[in-house]
Formats: sequence, structure tokens, C-alpha cells
Amino acid sequence: AHYLQRIEKADATLNSFISVTTEQALTQADAADQARARGKTNLLNGIPLALKDIFCTQGIKTSCGSKMLDNFVAPYNATVVEKLNEAGGITLGKTNMDEFAMGSSNENSHYGPVKNPWDLSAVPGGSSGGSAAAVAAGLTPAAFGTDTGGSIRQPASFCGITGLKPTYGRVSRYGIIAYASSLDQAGPMARTAEDCAHLLNVIAGHDARDSTSVARVVPDYAEALNAPLSGLKIGLPVEYFGDGLDPDVEKAVREAVKVYESLGASVREVSLPHTHYAIPAYYVIAPAEASSNLSRYDGVRFGHRCENPEDLIDLYKRSRDEGFGNEVKRRILIGTHTLSEGFFDAYYKKAQQVRRLIRQDFLNAFKDVDVLMGPASPTTAFELGAKKDPVSMYLQDIYTIAVNLAGIPGISVPAGFVGNRPVGLQILGTHFAEAQLLNVAHQFQ
Ligand code: GLN
Repeated sequence: AHYLQRIEKADATLNSFISVTTEQALTQADAADQARARGKTNLLNGIPLALKDIFCTQGIKTSCGSKMLDNFVAPYNATVVEKLNEAGGITLGKTNMDEFAMGSSNENSHYGPVKNPWDLSAVPGGSSGGSAAAVAAGLTPAAFGTDTGGSIRQPASFCGITGLKPTYGRVSRYGIIAYASSLDQAGPMARTAEDCAHLLNVIAGHDARDSTSVARVVPDYAEALNAPLSGLKIGLPVEYFGDGLDPDVEKAVREAVKVYESLGASVREVSLPHTHYAIPAYYVIAPAEASSNLSRYDGVRFGHRCENPEDLIDLYKRSRDEGFGNEVKRRILIGTHTLSEGFFDAYYKKAQQVRRLIRQDFLNAFKDVDVLMGPASPTTAFELGAKKDPVSMYLQDIYTIAVNLAGIPGISVPAGFVGNRPVGLQILGTHFAEAQLLNVAHQFQ
């Protein structure tokens, strides 16, 4: 009730929720009370949560931030949702997001932009901006997002919360609306790494319904917190401290690294030499996969359908024209072009080869160091409406995108402020190093 009241009071301004599921939340809360009375000790029992509106929720609208799915009520739950329900979590509602998770500022949502709770003239980041703003404003103790190129870590950084993108395959993608299937991964967004550890405990693990989820033991992520950091080897990628990085953000990040030195860690510079190819490679691969994934929205089976179609082609054309926003259309055009006959080798194949080099950069670095640290974003949250040109928006993700191409985990942790806007420290580890990342993040907090 406390959180529902806070949502009612604050969200008219913030716009962080697309749907508030009051009735379901109260029913789930009753069930959680009863479970507790029966002696259920599960940590998550009765904990209110919010879900990015990309997770399919049975009987509840799942819009993915798009007019295309404004009328879509999912007939089943995503595996993540199922697991949270089983653990006794309470869903407060579905959070705002960039349409189909395409964006870095939440300004691409059909439901209007979200405001950053720290400064209402600033963006919350994206695409999981609603989840980040809701946690930062105390409208929910925790939320879930997805991260294809930075969409958990960058909004976490802009809103001063903790957000973890797990290793690709750690969390099932079943029932999560697909953007770029080889990059998408769901993860927790909360105030602390400790909270994220408990939430990851619930959602991680193999799922027979997602063939890319990995059958690997899920450790107790909360148990690993507080392992000593003395001897930890930290690498600072030189490419993450170069041109374009706001000097005040750099200062905050370097101060944070000093805290780790005081905890007994050693710090050295490393190089990820293919970093500058990450954005070009991503903007071939992600739109290519998106153009394929989004071909299902044709006005026939579900989603938006235009009025009075003349024939089938008119139905396809107008339904898609009316249902998709400009950024989504741009990505579909790019993806369709790069996958078309005669261009595949020049773009898609080449981008996949570059992707392998980027992955190898990280694996080489992890031969010498345990974790990498740097900024999550080159700047703090920017003004609403400040980035009109799509390429300047794409460049926002310079420090987050390579991580998805490599499939490794990353976390953004609050590391101070520049003025009234939060700075995020990004910590990266090798595949399946979530326990280590959470421990390292936890000890900074
Ligand atoms: N900003 C990036 C994009 O628009 C990443 C988004 C995401 O991680 N979903 O593709």
C-alpha cells in the first residue's frame, strides 16, 4: 500500500509506469501474508517489484513501449515473471521504456518520456528508464530491466541506482519481447548490489524454453558478498578514459577506484583495442536482428491493425506505419538493408567478425586482471530533448555496448554526483562472474 500510494503521488510527474496493477498487487500481497503466516521464509516473499513493460505478464497489458502493442495482453508469463511470482514477489506494475528497447533516454516511448527523479529536466536514461526512475524515486524497492547494449547499466547510472546485466544466457529470455536476440539479457535494478544479488538468485538459471539459457549451476549470489578484496586485480581500460569523457565523471570514477585500492586491490591500465568498432558493429547486428524479430508485427495475428485495409499489402503497410515510431522504423530499415542480398557479407558477416575481436579483447584483459572498471556513460544524465540526432544518441553507449557483444556481465554502481546528477561506476567481469561483480560492487556501498 505504501508503494502504491507513492506511485499515485509521484508518477503523474515522473511517468515511470505504463500500467499500475493495483488489484493484482493487493491480491499477491494477501497471498504473501498468508504464506508468511504458514512459515514461508523466502526473502522475496511480499517484496514489491516493478517490471519493464517488455516482460510478458499473463492477463496484463505488455506494450513494449509501443503503440503497436498498446492493445496486447500477454497470454502467458515470461520465465522471469513466473520465478518472481513463485518466490512471492508482488508486481506493482509495468514500467515505461523506449519503444522495443531502442534508445538511451526513454524519449522514444509511445507513452511519453520519463523524468529523472534527481532533476526533472533530465532524462532517466534508457531503455529501462522507467524501472530506474521508479527505484530511484522510491516508488518500488526494486525493478527489472533488459540490457541489449546498456539499457540496464546506463539508466542505473543516470538515476543513481545499482543495475546488473548478467552474462548472456544466465537468465531466461523466454517471454521477454525480443529486440536483438543474441544480445538481450534481463537483470535486476535496485538500490544496492546486495538487493541485486537476492533478486538474481531468484531469476537466474537454465530454462528449457530458452535454448540460449545456460545449464550451469546458480551459486548463491548473496553468500559471496563480503569476500575480502585484498589482492583483487583491477584493470582500467585506457579506451574508457579517452576523448568524450566528461572530466567530472572521470574524476568521480577515479575516486571510486581509489576506494578499492584502500581495500587492498591493485590497479593497472589495460587496453581493449577494438573498442571504437563496438558501436558500428552493434548498429549492424542489433538492427539486423530487430528487423527479423519485428517482422511478426504485421497487423494480422496481434497488435495494432489499421482501419479498413484495402487488401493484405495495405494491411501490412499501414498497420506497421501507424504502429511503429520513427526510431523503430529507422532500425528496421537499417537491418533490412544490411541483411539484403549482396550486402550481407559486407555488413552483417563483417560485424560478426568484429564482434569476435571485441570479445577476444575482453578475454585477453581477463588473463591479467579480475575485473575492469570505468564509467557506465561518458556524461551524467542529459537534458530532455538535448539529443536530436540519432548518432549522438548512439554514441552514448560507447562504454556499455561492447559488453553485450562479448556476452560478459556488467554492473553499474552509484559513485557520487556531478552537481545534482548521479555518476555510475561500471564494473565488468568475465563470463559468469556475477558473484564476483556483486561482491566488488557491494563493498563500495
Ligand atoms: N541504446 C541502445 C539501443 O538503442 C541499447 C538499448 C538496449 O540496451 N536495449 O540499441
